[in-house]
Amino acid sequence: MTETTHDLLVIGGGPAGYVAALRAAQLGLDTAVIDERERFGGTCLNVGCIPSKALLESSHRFASVDLDLAEHGVITGKAKLDLGAMQKRKDEIVSRITKGVSALLWKRKVKTYNGRAKLAGPGKVNVSSTDELELTAKHIIIATGSESASLPGIEIDGKRIGTSTEALAYDEVPKHLVVIGAGAIGLELGSVWSRLGAKVTVLEYLDRILPGMDLATAKAAQKALESQGLTIELGVRVTGAKTTKTGCTVKADGRSPLRCSHVLVAVGRKPYTDGLGLDTVGITIDERGRIPVNDGFATSADGIYAVGDVIEGPMLAHKASDEGVACVERIVTGYGHVNYDAIPNIVYTSPEVASVGKTEQELKEAGVPYRKGAFPFIANGRAHALGDTTGQVKILAHKETDRLLGVHIIGPHAGDLIAEAAVAIEFGASSEDLARACHAHPTLAESLKEAALAVDRRALHI
Ligand code: NAD
Repeated sequence: MTETTHDLLVIGGGPAGYVAALRAAQLGLDTAVIDERERFGGTCLNVGCIPSKALLESSHRFASVDLDLAEHGVITGKAKLDLGAMQKRKDEIVSRITKGVSALLWKRKVKTYNGRAKLAGPGKVNVSSTDELELTAKHIIIATGSESASLPGIEIDGKRIGTSTEALAYDEVPKHLVVIGAGAIGLELGSVWSRLGAKVTVLEYLDRILPGMDLATAKAAQKALESQGLTIELGVRVTGAKTTKTGCTVKADGRSPLRCSHVLVAVGRKPYTDGLGLDTVGITIDERGRIPVNDGFATSADGIYAVGDVIEGPMLAHKASDEGVACVERIVTGYGHVNYDAIPNIVYTSPEVASVGKTEQELKEAGVPYRKGAFPFIANGRAHALGDTTGQVKILAHKETDRLLGVHIIGPHAGDLIAEAAVAIEFGASSEDLARACHAHPTLAESLKEAALAVDRRALHI
């Protein structure tokens, strides 16, 4: 057993862990990061955000050839699919980006270990790999992320019935894909395979899609997705799924079994702490499997911190990275925090759905008085030039102070447009501030300015 000491050990090399390690190295800590995956970058870079966005882009282009190009006066033949090439492109992007993370860590002199880490008492971590290692450090950050959740009664075989990992790697277009769960994963991957020719049925337990997102915006997203050919059935509680000789069957309360070729289980994710040795340092997980932390990300064990999907809060890569940075800054400087009111959330369907801050439902429940302004992309010149006028920008501001409380966008490039709203909320801006800021013409962002003007009933272009 080889023994080594560092100032800081980070367990997990995803967006929470590798970013924490980079910041720690900047601040002068002798830092090491451990991951059981060969490639750094965690779920997000390997089997999550990055590969799904690659497939969303490719499938969007495939679907656009037949749908959109003729409208632009561009006449092509019918699009043909080379799924192997599409998957290869995705794999190459993942390889490039994960290599980039390793290069960043190497440049900053962060030591990397490949193997499975297990806490072995205060300040100690054992790494099982080809060479058994015992690492010690004054500070340890747990950033082990999350794994796909499933349901009792679902027999995941990793081929026909699988999670997002399998649905990112199908080597044929499913004939009929049943997606269980209408959250971001289900709708993004459902969109990919629907665009490539699969029949897609989404079964959702709730009476709405995209739980947590603004309700009216989610309803508009449902309508748009249905018009693209996805079947979305609400109020359906799936109770089981299994493979048969010819495909799969999905069982749900009160209905006859649904036959299909593939099943994507997208019912959420759960914190990943299996075999981590939390008991050796006296950490107890909560009822949802999360590691409890205080506002400085410290766990109940001295010198041990946790950030990202393994703690409370939305399971989003950028939230995890910001926590990694704030945690390290707290350790080194005593300062550092995350503003949970200014974390954007984006669903990369077409149209994109993006939000930051509070929803109308949350404001109503909390009894916060607000004013609302909305502006549709159909009244935006750039949206017409793009050929995509679906959706709108909705702005919620405090009724008395005018402070921005929430911004919800559905439409073209919503995921990029939301950045302006996140910055405005972070700076404590009012809707008046947003309305008075000069916005370039012709841009989609003008719709944010107009929606801000609409809060005060003085939008100009509608
Ligand atoms: P989710 O929690 O967002 O959605 C899961 C859905 O499954 C819910 O709507 C739930 O009601 C439904 N469901 C649960 N049990 C069911 C049952 N028995 N029958 C039918 N429906 C059922 O989870 P997800 O989409 O799997 O995503 C997991 C996490 O990853 C989320 O935190 C999400 O924010 C994150 N993520 C984010 C992005 C993004 O930001 N673009 C992309 C992918 C994943």
